[in-house]
Amino acid sequence: MRVLVTGGAGFIGSHLCDRLLAEGHQVIAMDNLITGSTRNIAHLAGRDDFLFIKHNVTNYIYIAGPLDAVLHLASPASPIDYIQLPIQTLKVGSLGTLNALGLAREKGARFLLASTSEVYGDPLVHPQPETYHGNVDPVGPRSVYDEAKRFAEALTMAYHHTHRLDTRIARIFNCYGPRMRLEDGRVVPNFIAQALRGEPLTVYGDGSQTRSFCYISDLVEGLYRLLLSSEHQPVNLGNPHEVSILDFARMINTITGNSAGIIFQDRRIKGDPEKRRPDITRARTLLGWEPQVSLEEGLRLTIEWFRDRV
Ligand code: UDP
Repeated sequence: MRVLVTGGAGFIGSHLCDRLLAEGHQVIAMDNLITGSTRNIAHLAGRDDFLFIKHNVTNYIYIAGPLDAVLHLASPASPIDYIQLPIQTLKVGSLGTLNALGLAREKGARFLLASTSEVYGDPLVHPQPETYHGNVDPVGPRSVYDEAKRFAEALTMAYHHTHRLDTRIARIFNCYGPRMRLEDGRVVPNFIAQALRGEPLTVYGDGSQTRSFCYISDLVEGLYRLLLSSEHQPVNLGNPHEVSILDFARMINTITGNSAGIIFQDRRIKGDPEKRRPDITRARTLLGWEPQVSLEEGLRLTIEWFRDRV
């Protein structure tokens, strides 16, 4: 296949490019580099099956030649980033998705939308199955991301129903691994950087809020299987192993041998979900997929990667 990956220089996008190339596909990565970085794809430079185009997909996308798949991953994804980039986030989720869908339609390509567990907002159903419609404040600080992705899902389904476009929607839960931006503000890079510097870990609130962290290689496997499937309804991709943020902090201090402990800070963003855990029954059944990498193993790999960069 000849595949376009929007957000191809981002954390997940770049790993997906690696996987597609390893499977023998030709890859075009597109990114405007506001949260992505050419560092993530530097190892691919010079390959004749790989092309990088610096472009903001909020503007019309032109690609010469055929395309078999458009994978739309472009978007800020860290709460700190999207709260600082509210309009860009809304534009890439709406106009960017429209352009990516239009391109897929023009080329007769299949389309995959990288959606998010944020469509469930601060969920009142736990764990979250795809049939749950969510609890999102349309004017809260997270709405710029949540509503953009909800709109992107609606638009994707509209193209599927109206134009018979061959679409897929992945709802990606918290994912971590090498190539996360050290300063992106998310809990994994924050805690690992603090631990490696011998500083106390900043737990927001009392740390009783939960998340479920999926290692990047597991996520990429799920995305690839979804791409090859013919499933048009949304599919959750994430690791169902749930931990409180406080336990997560303790775990990182233990693995890194950081003795500086934990400090509690009142920095929770309004609408910060209390609980998050994917129900992955659909992914298990439809894709035969489930995460293989334990949290401890994934953290060790991630910490090793960050060690050289802190
Ligand atoms: N968090 C924290 N300390 C940090 C960064 C984040 O306690 O230094 C908490 C945050 O309040 C949230 C959870 O960790 O409850 C996950 O935050 P993240 O920004 O990684 O992404 P989210 O899952 O909220 O989209």
